[in-house]
Amino acid sequence: MQPELGNGLSQAGTHDPAEGSLFATVARVERDLNELIEALALLGVKRCSQCRKFFRCTDPGALFDCGQLVCYGCLPDWWSSLSTRLYVADRERIEGKLASWLRKHHRAEVVKATADTLPDTTNAEFQVVVKCLECSGSGKLMEGERCRFCNGLGTVRIVVPK
Ligand SMILES: [Zn+2]
Ligand SMILES: [Zn+2]
Repeated sequence: MQPELGNGLSQAGTHDPAEGSLFATVARVERDLNELIEALALLGVKRCSQCRKFFRCTDPGALFDCGQLVCYGCLPDWWSSLSTRLYVADRERIEGKLASWLRKHHRAEVVKATADTLPDTTNAEFQVVVKCLECSGSGKLMEGERCRFCNGLGTVRIVVPK
């Protein structure tokens, strides 16, 4: 024998009330969680969009912010997958920001690119190849001479030492 629901609102037979309340519970928990994350942001704690870990904003080197927050540990994988999917203009904008963030907070150094030798990556914890700012990626300076900052290649490497 079926128990009477008796409230006239439930669609008995077509809809399982337990499922409905489960959905409501999940929705409520989700809302609570979002509010909690907003509250944490007010307290200066933000979350990496990749590994979902929380970090203190007082440590400016913990999370890289380019509209999306990414922690330092997630950067290499995140950047290598994202950079191939971006339009050139977007990539250059983000890589410029990334380069200055790495230099500011992670002792990154600008290393000249070399055409003939492969870069030595043994001492690099993380590195990105970015457009040379001195020649805007053209490899040439105003007088037409080869850019000495990037050896005329138009790119330099930003290397975070181990
Ligand atoms: Zn992360
Ligand atoms: Zn250059």
